Amino acid sequence: RIAYVNGRYVAHAEASVHIEDRGYQFADGVYEVCEVARGYIVDMKRHLDRLDRSLRELSIAWPMNRAAMEIVIVEVIRRNRVKNGLVYLQVTRGVASRDFLFPADTRPSVVITAKKVDPAALAKRAENGIKVITVPENRWDRVDIKSVGLLPNVLAKQKANEAGAHEAWFVDADGTVKEGGSSNAWIVTGDGALVTRPAEHGILRGITRTTLLDVAAKLGLRVEERGFTVAEAKAAREAFISSATTLAMPVVAIDGDPVANGHPGSVALSLRQAFFDIAEKRPA
Ligand code: PLP
Repeated sequence: RIAYVNGRYVAHAEASVHIEDRGYQFADGVYEVCEVARGYIVDMKRHLDRLDRSLRELSIAWPMNRAAMEIVIVEVIRRNRVKNGLVYLQVTRGVASRDFLFPADTRPSVVITAKKVDPAALAKRAENGIKVITVPENRWDRVDIKSVGLLPNVLAKQKANEAGAHEAWFVDADGTVKEGGSSNAWIVTGDGALVTRPAEHGILRGITRTTLLDVAAKLGLRVEERGFTVAEAKAAREAFISSATTLAMPVVAIDGDPVANGHPGSVALSLRQAFFDIAEKRPA
C-alpha cells in the first residue's frame, strides 16, 4: 500500500509524521472519509466542502489548493488499485515544539490513504442489519467539526463491540438520540416518514445523511428533520444509521430490544439501493 504524506507518496508501512505533530499531541486536526464505489469517488465535492468548513472553524490553512488535493486523492486511489473502499484524509495544524498556542509559521500536515473494502461483506451486513447500544452524550459541543479528537467515540464504539453491537448512539440527557460514534441515526415512523435529527444541533452533518435526503426526495419519501427518543426508535417501524463507511445500514436491535420485527426495514434497504445512482460520482 502507498500513502501520501506531506508531498510524498511513500510505502504505507514506512509512512510517518513527526512526534511533535499537533494532531498527535492535541488532536489538533480534522479528517474526512470518502467512499470509493465501482471505481468512482462518491460525493467528493461535499466531502471537500465539509473539510473546508472544518479547517476554517479551527483556523487551519489548506495544505495545498483544492484542485491539487483532488489530484492527490485520485492518485492515492489509483496507486492502491482501490475500486471499492475508502479514502482517509487528515489535515493537522502541523509540527511545532509543544505549546498550546497556534504556532506562528508551521505548515499543516496532510496524510491521505486508501484501502479496499469488500462490497459483498458490507452487503451481507446490510442484509442482516446491525445492533446498536446507547450511551450518554459525553462529547464537547463542537461535534459539527470533523475533528480527529475522537476518544469518546472510541470508548463508546468499544463498549458497543463488547456488547456484541456495531454502533453506539450518543443520547442527550432528555433521552433524544444525537448520532452514532461514526454515523448519523434515523428512524422510519409507523406512517412511513423518515426522521433524523437536524444537523444544526450537536451532530456532524454527515455527507451520507445529506445525500440520503436527496435520495428520499427522489423516492418521494416524507422527511421530518427532528429529534427522536430512544423509546421512539425502539417502537419505530425501522431504524438505520448512515455513514460513508456503511451507507444506509439497517438497525435491528437497540440495547438488546428488537426494532419492529427485528429484521432490516424495506425503506432503509431501498435508500441503500438507490444511493449510488443519486450521489455525485467522479471517476477515480
Ligand atoms: N457522525 C459522526 C460522529 C461520524 O464520525 C460520522 C462519520 O464518520 C458520521 C456522523 C457520518 O458522516 P458521513 O456520512 O459523512 O460519513
